[in-house]
Amino acid sequence: MKINPAQKMQDDIDRAVELLSQAKYAIALTGAGVSVESGIRPYRGPDGLWTEYGEPPMDRYDSTFRDPKKGWEKIMSGEIFSSEMMSKAAEAFRNAQPNPGHYALAELEEMGILKCLITQNVDNLHRIAGSKNMAEIHGNLYLMRCMQCNNRYGFMEISLEVLPPTCPKCGGAVKPDGVMFGEPIPSDVLAKCHKETSKCDCMLTVGTTGLVYPSAGFPRMVKSRGGTLIEVDLRETDLTPSCNISIRGKSGEIMSLIVSRIKLKT
Ligand code: ZN
Repeated sequence: MKINPAQKMQDDIDRAVELLSQAKYAIALTGAGVSVESGIRPYRGPDGLWTEYGEPPMDRYDSTFRDPKKGWEKIMSGEIFSSEMMSKAAEAFRNAQPNPGHYALAELEEMGILKCLITQNVDNLHRIAGSKNMAEIHGNLYLMRCMQCNNRYGFMEISLEVLPPTCPKCGGAVKPDGVMFGEPIPSDVLAKCHKETSKCDCMLTVGTTGLVYPSAGFPRMVKSRGGTLIEVDLRETDLTPSCNISIRGKSGEIMSLIVSRIKLKT
């Protein structure tokens, strides 16, 4: 019998709704794919920025923020962040607004279905859309972070008159919160991800390739403990073979369908 793709998608969405509704502690893990529909290019894959321009050097963190004063001088002088790739990325970030995928995820949290959202995105769009309990594992472009106590600050809260800027709380050097190549994931965020994942019995992965660790490890941890995985992505990913349900399509469209189906049920 030939399977009708539209019918298969409806069935997959129904099953995803079922799993999410039954879950005691569902978490979402999101990646660049969610922000593509907001005009932000992904890093990897056929349309990826790094596919076109090459990956940043692996020692970027060491070569800049090992010495915070020098790191800031390099930022201020435009030595880093001023390449063609960085300018294009920065422009896209400035113009981006949340899309229906971001709003659907925030709504799922509001409805009490999603307990937490782990994102690899640094673009702030989940926050703007209203997600609350979040772990921004690669940081947030609109924040600064104390390298000593991990406290976050808005850019307006920290003076750049003397470099490196220092933390009002502990006096440690402050850097942009975005995690650079070669920089360890901030310990507080990593601990939160592990704590949330350890409680999770259903993980919804949206727009993530499942290639970048440590994030790629979280769905695998959930699966290995007998939890369920739902994937929403345009393409097959490294996570697809482990997923209970894989739905192919734009995250904005699929996530909106999932939310409206849940509303119909309740
Ligand atoms: Zn501090």
